[in-house]
Amino acid sequence: MLKYYLAFAIGYPREMLLTLLVSIVVLAYIIEALLDHLNQGTARNPLDKKIAHLYDQNEREKSIAYTYEKTRFGFVLATSSTVVMILALAYGWFAKLDEIVRDRFTNEIQVSLLFIGVLGLISWLLNLPFQLYGIFKIEAKYGFNKTTLKTFFVDALKGFIVAALLGGALLTAILWLYQELQNGFWISAWLLVTAFSLFMFMFGTKLILPLFNKLQPLPEGELKSEIQKYCASQGYSINRLFVMDGSKRSTKANAFFSGLGRSKTIVLFDTLIEKLSTKEIVAVLAHEVGHYKKKHTLSMFVFSLVQSFGTFALLGWLLSYPELSTALGATQQSFHLSVLAFFILFTPLSILLGLINNSWSRHNEFESDTFATQTYEAAPMRSALEKISTDSLANLSPHPLYVAFNYTHPTLLQRINNVERS
Ligand SMILES: [Zn+2]
Repeated sequence: MLKYYLAFAIGYPREMLLTLLVSIVVLAYIIEALLDHLNQGTARNPLDKKIAHLYDQNEREKSIAYTYEKTRFGFVLATSSTVVMILALAYGWFAKLDEIVRDRFTNEIQVSLLFIGVLGLISWLLNLPFQLYGIFKIEAKYGFNKTTLKTFFVDALKGFIVAALLGGALLTAILWLYQELQNGFWISAWLLVTAFSLFMFMFGTKLILPLFNKLQPLPEGELKSEIQKYCASQGYSINRLFVMDGSKRSTKANAFFSGLGRSKTIVLFDTLIEKLSTKEIVAVLAHEVGHYKKKHTLSMFVFSLVQSFGTFALLGWLLSYPELSTALGATQQSFHLSVLAFFILFTPLSILLGLINNSWSRHNEFESDTFATQTYEAAPMRSALEKISTDSLANLSPHPLYVAFNYTHPTLLQRINNVERS
């Protein structure tokens, strides 16, 4: 490390850029660790009287222990991946991998594909033990885990194959565009990625989700007729409403909305139906309908396209600098090394974008809660939120900064206050 800081002082461009990359990795790590530390500090704060009764003494202790344990685990994971990244940068491991691949292939597209494939495979393998520990040690200890080892490995394998097939095809097309158009490739690459995202946004729940879960139409009965009554009152045509076997992996309850136009889909977890009353489930569904009526999914999708446009434009511009590759220790420019360096350089901006996206998402959640309260009822909305939070041992006193950086949903107290105001 000292070597690079000395080089920085002398002003060699390669070492300067490398120093910057390492500093960014370290900075991102420090920010994450700091937020975790703050969040642990407020976990024992006294609760507002509106939510204090939700946990008894024993449950509160359990919720605090769960928060601590997840934080410690996240810290170990972040520390190990940061150490690996710094070693890889400092010792030029990425450039070495690039050399090894180049010894075997001459076609640039094949070189990039293999490089990214090998890196993807390595990080997938390194991540597996962490995932295993998270699910079978922590989640299991607090009674949430329902995943069997078989389901876990089948999931991991399927996920890898889907990512390799879809990601591989998309990547090959992007690499081909780069080969043909060089730095001007970014507009067509962005258009391609946009078309792909739009397709996944519309048909993802139809094509990909069933590979991992069973989706079944809601059976006839009291719940279905209540839901139909509510949807009719809102002029919402519900042709794609499914119950998903979330209980195959976890006891935690959830629901979500996805898609666009005729492909719009609402998915309720079977665990949600099991734990909530009919009225509470309709309130949750009304919240999801709110996301559609208020055009949340659509506007967030469009905003993500604007962000990816900016990212691709920056990438197109920075790819004209071979220093991005040589900073990682290579002797010549290569697409994949430059992209790797680019994404590290991009980290501060992506942290900032994360803050904006999360804040907007929390704003939308408030709007959907308000929509459900106004078009349905406040009491079941409130009790559904309480049940979902406490049932998953949620931390009821997170640090505000931690919320700003990490929460896509407002805290339970904020949501209850909002429902009361609506
Ligand atoms: Zn929502």
